[in-house]
Amino acid sequence: MAKNPFACGDCHLVLADGVDQCTRCPSAQVSSDWQGYVIIMDPERSEIAKRLNVEHPGKYALKVNTR
Ligand SMILES: [Zn+2]
Repeated sequence: MAKNPFACGDCHLVLADGVDQCTRCPSAQVSSDWQGYVIIMDPERSEIAKRLNVEHPGKYALKVNTR
């Protein structure tokens, strides 16, 4: 199985392959240890987006484990 991409510990954004820093949160920790892949198309209408405080459409992880 391929290695997980990184996800941002702050905004939960799942980063592209080979990217190890969130463009929205330059100081946030990233982790490849995360669970629950969700694609949010319309944050305004998404309960998950509200829960994660997501304001932009994209691919997100429900839970990101940072150390
Ligand atoms: Zn981020």
